[in-house]
Amino acid sequence: MKKVKYAVLQAVAAHIEKNHNQMLHYLRTIVEHESFSADKEKLDQLALWLSETFEELVGGTSEIIEVQTYGNHVRCEWGQGEGQVLILAHFDTVWPIGTLNEMPFRIEGNRVSGPGVFDMKGGLIQGLFALKALKDTGISLDKKVVVFFDSDEEIGNPSSRPYIEEEAKKSDYVFVLEPGMTLEGALKTSRKGVGIYRLEVTGIPSHAGVDPDKGVSAIDELARQILKLHGETDFSTGTTISVGKISGGTATNVIAEKAVAEIDVRGKTAEELERVHKMLFNLEPLKEKTKLEMTGGINRMPLERTEKVQEMFETAKRIAKEQLSFELMEKETGGGSDGNLTAPFAATLDGLGAVGDGAHANHEHLLLDRMNERCALLAGLLIHYAGIREKS
Ligand SMILES: [Zn+2]
Repeated sequence: MKKVKYAVLQAVAAHIEKNHNQMLHYLRTIVEHESFSADKEKLDQLALWLSETFEELVGGTSEIIEVQTYGNHVRCEWGQGEGQVLILAHFDTVWPIGTLNEMPFRIEGNRVSGPGVFDMKGGLIQGLFALKALKDTGISLDKKVVVFFDSDEEIGNPSSRPYIEEEAKKSDYVFVLEPGMTLEGALKTSRKGVGIYRLEVTGIPSHAGVDPDKGVSAIDELARQILKLHGETDFSTGTTISVGKISGGTATNVIAEKAVAEIDVRGKTAEELERVHKMLFNLEPLKEKTKLEMTGGINRMPLERTEKVQEMFETAKRIAKEQLSFELMEKETGGGSDGNLTAPFAATLDGLGAVGDGAHANHEHLLLDRMNERCALLAGLLIHYAGIREKS
């Protein structure tokens, strides 16, 4: 594949630099519009804003995909040509509405803070400005660019999944604007797959004082099962099983009839996830007279570090070093993303978004002085993988 022409990317990078303050303005606007995954009204408003902002900054066309219960999604298209590249960015956050009051958008030196600024509104805005820079410098790409903004990544893509998979099937390459890893902003060339399960235990209720020997405690059984499940975690292979939420019982003086655990499973390969899946569904009660009911399943397949993924990373690293003068690293993560959904269908490079720290944490922030180079890197990758359309 031909190299990205040096002068072309330099012009694009200069344009991005010139528009830095404008990029920051849009970042502020999107962070100050809160978008918790569970708040359809706020998400729908932001979907509308994204659709309008895309057309205003990039041109092309955009369409709102209306869904029930969850927030609407936005599908945008820019340019034309044979083949398609897909850019993915989710606009929901893990922060409930009102977080902005305690965690306002603010810039302190090189740090920009605010709910969702790092995961992943920063990357989303960088993506828009990468495309804007290509457009403004008169570059037409040789493939169609589809940008998909989804509203439910943080809750496991209950409604966006089929749309994302459908776009991935039509795409030659996928770029995911999730934040980079560590303060180096490493790309994510391997992501674990995720399983989500729920174990419900039924015991026999009785009065804890009057008939303690007549009851069989569901809580007792669940506690034993949890220890067993956690014992299956193996950090050396990367397989983890974690009960993240439990509930059960009705009153202090009642031996509990019901207890429930919600279980998070992570694994590096599809086979490993399937092995754990089978194990979970074959669990036997540890105490007599209790019943187990397991529900759930594999939610996201892993993003495995295939040859194609390695090749994409090497290209990104080369563009960063030779043309944008920075070092790019790669890392693996246990966190899932939209990239797990596309990886089975198209070569996917993830973690191209903001550089910073504190996703889902109170110290969430991105580094201001890394925004331009990440933006230019995405533009460089688009030029490389989509090619420049010769003017006829
Ligand atoms: Zn994210």
